[in-house]
Amino acid sequence: MLEDVLGWAVVLIGSIVMKFTKITVIDPILSLGVATFILIEAAKNLHEIIKIFLEVTPKDIDLEKIKIDIKRIHGVVDIHHIHVRSINGEENHATLHVVVKKYDKNIKNTVKEVLKKHNISHSVIEIEQTDEECEDKICK
Ligand SMILES: [Zn+2]
Ligand SMILES: [Zn+2]
Repeated sequence: MLEDVLGWAVVLIGSIVMKFTKITVIDPILSLGVATFILIEAAKNLHEIIKIFLEVTPKDIDLEKIKIDIKRIHGVVDIHHIHVRSINGEENHATLHVVVKKYDKNIKNTVKEVLKKHNISHSVIEIEQTDEECEDKICK
């Protein structure tokens, strides 16, 4: 936001200086400045679009299969809020909540192993017990 305001301020000041001093050399510089400014704005939008694309589950990931495999782990009651994204097109990162009957430190490791088999190298796992209220039960 601040850069946007600064960008337009520079353009505005440039025009005013040009109007009063008649230094025409400012004109090409200003044009270049405006072009750069527009380019930066476009790049920012492109970055937003790329970010949205990265939120999409990678093609080689079968979420349903992963869910089935995790639910098979002894002690796991349910899973939700599972998201898999690719950071660089090769490595897959996962976020998920695992609901367990009783907390057991082995469950998290087993879940990680299952994820590794599904080509997910990094994961953030939240372990919840059945009586816990979770705000992320349903993904928006
Ligand atoms: Zn979610
Ligand atoms: Zn949860």
